[in-house]
Amino acid sequence: MTHQNSASADSLTEYRDSIDKLDRDFIALLARRMELVRNIGGVKRDDPQAPLRDEDREREIFEVWAQAAAQEGLSPYFVGRVLRELLNYSRRDQERHLDRPEVASAVSAVRVAYQGMPGSYSDLAITKLFASRDVERLDRVGFRGFTAVLDALEAGQVGYALLPIENTIAGSINEVYDLLAHRPVRVVGEEVWSVEHCLLGVEGAQIEGLESVRSHPVALQQCKKFLGGLVGARLETYHDTAGAARSVARAKDPAIGAIASEEAAQLWGLQVLRRDISDQRTNLTRFLLIGTEAEALDPRQPTKTSLVMVVRHQAGALYECLRIFDEHGINLTKLESRPLPEKPWAARFYVDVHGHAEQEPLASAIKALSRHTSRLKVLGSYARRTDVEGPLPLPSPSGRAETTSPSPSHEGANAVGASNEGASNESAAAEDATEKKVGLEATGAVCPPTKVEGKLTEPAFSGERRTVTVGNVEFGGDNFVLISGPCAVESRQQIVASAAMVRDAGAAMLRGGAFKPRSSPYSFQGLGFPGLEILAEAGHAYELPVVTEVLQPEDVMRVAEGADMLQVGARNMQNFSLLKEIGKSRAPVLLKRGLSATIKELLMAAEYIMAGGNHQIVLCERGIRTFETATRSTLDVSAVPVLKEKTHLPVIVDPSHAAGRRDLVVPLALAAAAVGADGLIVEIHPQPEEALCDKDQALTEELLGQLVQGLRPIVEAQGRRF
Ligand code: PEP
Ligand code: MN
Repeated sequence: MTHQNSASADSLTEYRDSIDKLDRDFIALLARRMELVRNIGGVKRDDPQAPLRDEDREREIFEVWAQAAAQEGLSPYFVGRVLRELLNYSRRDQERHLDRPEVASAVSAVRVAYQGMPGSYSDLAITKLFASRDVERLDRVGFRGFTAVLDALEAGQVGYALLPIENTIAGSINEVYDLLAHRPVRVVGEEVWSVEHCLLGVEGAQIEGLESVRSHPVALQQCKKFLGGLVGARLETYHDTAGAARSVARAKDPAIGAIASEEAAQLWGLQVLRRDISDQRTNLTRFLLIGTEAEALDPRQPTKTSLVMVVRHQAGALYECLRIFDEHGINLTKLESRPLPEKPWAARFYVDVHGHAEQEPLASAIKALSRHTSRLKVLGSYARRTDVEGPLPLPSPSGRAETTSPSPSHEGANAVGASNEGASNESAAAEDATEKKVGLEATGAVCPPTKVEGKLTEPAFSGERRTVTVGNVEFGGDNFVLISGPCAVESRQQIVASAAMVRDAGAAMLRGGAFKPRSSPYSFQGLGFPGLEILAEAGHAYELPVVTEVLQPEDVMRVAEGADMLQVGARNMQNFSLLKEIGKSRAPVLLKRGLSATIKELLMAAEYIMAGGNHQIVLCERGIRTFETATRSTLDVSAVPVLKEKTHLPVIVDPSHAAGRRDLVVPLALAAAAVGADGLIVEIHPQPEEALCDKDQALTEELLGQLVQGLRPIVEAQGRRF
C-alpha cells in the first residue's frame, strides 16, 4: 500500500513539474507575443490613419484558434475565452502608447489614493486600471472617506485618485458626484470591476456557526437573499469590506464572518466559506480615475465624456439640451438628475456621452448647450472601458470569417440599431415599390395585377433573401444554424447542463420553454418568468442567444426583454392578438407552422407580424397532422423549398416535434438540411428519461453528436457553413 502511494506521489510530482515547465514556456511565449503586439502598436501610433482595431483580423484569429483547438481535442469555446483575454490585454497595451506618445519609457512611480483598505474593491480596481499604464512602481494609499481622497489629490500628496461612481445594483454614488461637481479636478479614466462578494471566516469557521456577519452596508444589501438564509446571524455594518475582513481576522472568532473579496481573504489570512453570494449575478462597479489636469488621448480611441449641467429653469430647457445631443448625433449613455438642496425643485444633471469634449461633434454640442444651461462643467474626457464585449465569434469548419454581426457593445448596440434601421428602410423601399405598382395599376398602366394580401411575405421576388440576425447568429445567409436545448426549462442545473451540451456540440443557439403550451392542463406548464431568467443566465454564460416561446400577448414585451428570440408555437400560429403584439416588438421571431395550417396560412401569420413593423421572422416547419399515426406529426419536407420559393424569409425545420421519437430525429434533420433548410431546432436533454416534457424525442449527447457529424458534409457540399 505505502509503496503504491509513494509511486503515485512520484508520478504526480513528475506531472506537476512538467506542467510548471510548460507554464514557464507559456509565459515566455506570451511575452514574445506582447512584444510583437507592441511593435504593431508602434506602427499604429506613427500612422494616425491606421484604425486602432481591425475586427476582421480579430475574427480571423478566433477562427484559426477555434480550428486549431478543435484539432487538438480542446473546447474551441474555452480556448476562445483565453484568446479574448489576450486580445483585451493587447488592445489596452497598444492604447497606453497611443495615449501618451511622448512618454516612451515608464513613469517611475505613481501614487493613487482610494477610499478603503488594502483588498477593497477600489484597491483591486486600481491594480487593474494601471496594469495597462507604464508605471514602474504603483503605490496605493487608502483613506477613510471620499473627501479625504480628493483632499490628498489636491494637496499633491498623490498623483491620482480612484473613486467609485456607480454600481449596477446599487446605482450612482451621489456623494462622489457631488464632490466632482465642486472640486477643481478632472476625470482622466474609468475602470469597471466585476464584484464577487465572498463570505469569509477564520480557519475552522462554519457557515452554520456564524453569529454575526460584517461588511459595508451596500455589500450586505447586495447579499440579502443569501444572508436571509443565515438564521440568527446579526449583521454589522463596516465602513469598508476589506476593513470588515481585517477585523474578523483580528478577532480570531469563528462565530464572526465578513463579506469581502477573495483577495481580501488572501490578504488577511481568512478562509472563503462561500463564493459569489450576491443576489444578482452581474455586479459591476464603475470607478473614475481622477487627476488634476486633462490627459492626451488618441482620437481613434473610443472616448467618453462626463458632464454636469444645471438646466435653465424654463419650460422645455431639458428637452432642448437632449435635442442638441440628438442633432449632433451624440450617443448619450447616462442621464441622471440630482436635486439641488440650495434651489428646491431645480436639478443638476449628470451626463455621460460618447466622444471627446474638444473634438467634433461634441465640441459644438457643448457650445450649443451652454445657451440652455445655467452651469455646465466638463468633468473630463477619457478612454471608454464600459463597452460590453460581444459573444465570442463562433468557430466554423470552413474557415470563412465573414460574419458581419456587430458585437453588442454599447457602440455595437448602436450599430445594431443602425443596421436594423437600414433593414427596415430597405423593406420600406420594397413596400414603396409595391405601393407604386398599385398606383400604376390605378392609372391603367401596363402592370401585372398586384395583390395587397401577402405583400410583405411575398414581395415581387427578386431571389434576394432576407437574413435575420439574433445576437451573433445569422439566419438565411450562408450559415446553417443549429438551435438546440430541452423542451422545457426545468431547473438551473438542467439548463446549465443542456447549455454545456449544446455549446460543446457546436450549436449556435439555446432553446428552452419557460411557458409550455401543454395539451393537458395537468401536465407540467413550465416555470414561467423564473424559468426565463435562468435560461437567459445560461445563454449568457455559454454565449448562446436564447429562444423561448411566448404564449400570450401581455407577456410579449417582458419575454422579449429576457430572450433573444421569441417563439410562436404551433398551437398559437393563428393567435392573431399574439401575432399583432409581437409585430409591435422588434424582437426576432421563430414562427412555427400550425398543426394543421397550410403554407399559405403560415405566410399570412408572418404577414400579421410584419404588418406591425417587425420583419425579423424565421419560419419553422415542424410537422403537420395527417392520417398517419406512426409519427407524432408528418414532417412536410416539401414545405421548405415551397416556402423558399414563395418568400424571402429564412426557413428552418423542427424534426423533434415532427418525429416524436428520438431515433427518427437525426434522419429527418439530415433530410431537412439536404432539402435546403436554413437551420434546425432540435430538442435534447441531459437525462432524457427524466425530462418533464417531450422525453421520447429528446436527443442524448451521443445522438446530438451524431447529428452534427451527419450535417457537416451535407451543409458543406452545398457551399454553406455550419
Ligand atoms: C416546442 O417547441 O417546445 C413546441 C411546443 O413546439 P410546437 O409548438 O411546434 O409544438
Ligand atoms: Mn417540445
